[in-house]
Amino acid sequence: MKAMKKRKKRAKKGEPQTVTKAVTHIRLEAANPGKLAALDQLAQVFLALTQQYVALFCTDELPDGFRAPCFPTPLSERWHRVAMQQAAGIAQAWRTKRANAYQEYLDALAEYQEHQTAGTSDPAAKEPKWREWDVPTLRQPCIQANANVVKLEAATESSFDGWLKVSTLDKGTPLLVPIQFSDYHKEQLTDPKTGQRRKINSSVTLNKRDGVWWLTLSYTETVTVQTPPDAPVIGIDVGIANFLTTSDGKQYGSFHRRLRERQKRDREKRRRKARLRKCLEKQGVPKDKLPSTSSATGQRLIRHVRQAINRAVNLCFEEHEGCQFAYEQLSVASMRHKARAMNAYMRASNLGHIPDQIAWNATKRGVAATKVKSAYSSQECHVCHYVDRKNRPNQQTFCCQVCGHTTHADVNASRNLAARLHDAELRDCITRHEVKALLMRRHEQWKQNVRLVVVQPPVQLGLWACSETSTDVG
Ligand SMILES: [Zn+2]
Repeated sequence: MKAMKKRKKRAKKGEPQTVTKAVTHIRLEAANPGKLAALDQLAQVFLALTQQYVALFCTDELPDGFRAPCFPTPLSERWHRVAMQQAAGIAQAWRTKRANAYQEYLDALAEYQEHQTAGTSDPAAKEPKWREWDVPTLRQPCIQANANVVKLEAATESSFDGWLKVSTLDKGTPLLVPIQFSDYHKEQLTDPKTGQRRKINSSVTLNKRDGVWWLTLSYTETVTVQTPPDAPVIGIDVGIANFLTTSDGKQYGSFHRRLRERQKRDREKRRRKARLRKCLEKQGVPKDKLPSTSSATGQRLIRHVRQAINRAVNLCFEEHEGCQFAYEQLSVASMRHKARAMNAYMRASNLGHIPDQIAWNATKRGVAATKVKSAYSSQECHVCHYVDRKNRPNQQTFCCQVCGHTTHADVNASRNLAARLHDAELRDCITRHEVKALLMRRHEQWKQNVRLVVVQPPVQLGLWACSETSTDVG
């Protein structure tokens, strides 16, 4: 029996979807400077405890935010639970990503061995190796709190918009921080249809960056999918040279030269720091006294690229009103294939952010966007379905070895992705191997059809004049 993978149902027209929207960058300012010290103290203890549970949930146990507490802490029971639940979320995300990466490694290994056996391997290809992942390290204080520990209360008779009531290490002495919304926040928090203040979700996030505490609030909105099922399909191919390439031949956003140079400088700086760290470590310097290898420049660069990605995705949606989208589930392996030399940029630019951004844009606009299988989408010829690595003589060009179809490589890939939206047969393939077998069967079918066309009406002959079978026509 074939194992059936659970698939997320596609959003259909008229179906309501809920979207959680964040209201970010609300600065926490205390009337007196010492006031937020209690929050700093709390955050330190909270971060350490969360880290302990992250390590536990990533290694010895499956993530369970409801398990019995097992580490000593000065935090209250309620805070302890918040730390465990946050840790469970982080560990779950890490486990999922790791499992996907491991599966991709197995796929890549299988493909490599297939080529070895068949004697078709690229001489430059190396056997894929698996490197075990490190448990995530929490660096910046971040607290995802629920109403049991942090409450946003409306302010009566005061010049502030509200109060944030935070329970602290000092039992019975909550911290009260005044909240002031900017005009921008007020606009976000007002429902334009009713003019009323939106209902704010009870869970909030507190972040400390560069010495400043920030509050993030959220609200839930219902968006209805507006796209009819027969709306034109636009395929989106994701890459580095161009963030997005659509099946109608448009390109959006790119990792341009200046960005690349900044990335290179940052990488060199990190390498120097890492060398220094190793040296100091050998001399017996304790771990917490070692210089950190994460850099502020790197963080800024990541933010910058993310903004560029967001702009590109936004523009792509704006220019394709009335369409629906088919996009690829980006995998580490397919990205590796796409840009072997650009691994370092990949990490910094976080291209994995692109599919998330496509999904989010679709949901908030009520547009249908569907993930489709990406296996062989960059090697398959869109015209005759012939699959071959050699169809890609270089990064930009697609040139089919059989039918000669030539186009920009990303455009060919995005057309394949578009065609896969309504392709149930391909959707049911489980392994890469099955996908390839199906595509090659279709290629055989295409060859049959070409022969049929050639022996049929003479009007069509001109099209196939150069075909080897044209002499068959009597
Ligand atoms: Zn072809």
